[in-house]
Amino acid sequence: MPAAVQDPLEIVRLAGILKAGGLVAFPTETVYGLGADATNSAAVLSIYETKGRPRFNPLIVHCADLAMAETLVAFTPLARRLAARFWPGPLTLVLPRKPGSPLSDLVTAGLDTVGVRVPAHPLTQALIRAAGMPLAGPSANPSGRLSPTAAAQVRSYFGGRVPVLDGGPCTAGVESTILAIRDDAAIQLRAGALPRDEIEAEIGRPVAVAAAGAAVAAPGMLASHYAPAAALRLDAAAPRPGEAFLGFGPMPAAIAGVSRNLSPSGDLREAARNLFSMLHELDGEAAAIAVAPIPQTGLGEAINDRLRRAAAPRDQLSRTL
Ligand code: AMP
Ligand code: MG
Repeated sequence: MPAAVQDPLEIVRLAGILKAGGLVAFPTETVYGLGADATNSAAVLSIYETKGRPRFNPLIVHCADLAMAETLVAFTPLARRLAARFWPGPLTLVLPRKPGSPLSDLVTAGLDTVGVRVPAHPLTQALIRAAGMPLAGPSANPSGRLSPTAAAQVRSYFGGRVPVLDGGPCTAGVESTILAIRDDAAIQLRAGALPRDEIEAEIGRPVAVAAAGAAVAAPGMLASHYAPAAALRLDAAAPRPGEAFLGFGPMPAAIAGVSRNLSPSGDLREAARNLFSMLHELDGEAAAIAVAPIPQTGLGEAINDRLRRAAAPRDQLSRTL
């Protein structure tokens, strides 16, 4: 258990930093977030500055519970149903901002909608309650780098500049699924840790997927994002000389010696949990990484999405901007 978990005073100390407009990195079931008071523009601005994040890319607002989220955005019956079924959990709902909502305009990057969710990690729920405000929280990585799934990765990115609430490794390992709700329609803006088929099973109909060109609706969808420093080659049966190998499912012993396996048994949940941490590790060991094919079903949609972005040419980011 990390030291922070055993010390309730740590939550009080970190909540004090948030109340004073400071940044705190917090654990969730998806990835670590870089948190600030979502109602304080100066605090939110320092998130953008610390990450080097483009200002037009809005931030997800993390709430302790549905009641807190209801003070910020207007829920439709469909949104309420999804929140009741999947919160706390890895589902972000994009809903119209309520008039008079105390959120900083910087959180929404000027949009009239807000992405909100209730993260499942008990330490972060305690932190939000102790701070008494919703937390703006993008992933705790410099913009364009791999999302962190452990406290040590956050520390390696930001050193002593940002205190980290250590909640252990993230159990889901990829970012939340983002759904825009318009009246009774749900549109998936980003594949994520909640598989689309589970949402469809709950609402009893297909969920539309935003077209690839809809990047502006969810700028996390920029072509090059989640990028390791190493070059990535996808759908590879085996590594070429000089490449590390990121496998999935049973792997010949000869390959296993120089690589990682996302899930030797072919379990997509395990693969999602390992994805970013194994990319982090291989990134430090090799200049090129070959990645085995991953099925496109269930969580495979989010895993393949992150892999495609990690493999995209780096200059696509500036071209998209
Ligand atoms: P990150 O926190 O780094 O996982 O990125 C947050 C993602 O949520 C980005 O892709 C944002 O574009 C998306 N997002 C946040 N708020 C909104 C919103 N109001 N409308 C559309 N997308 C949003
Ligand atoms: Mg991110």
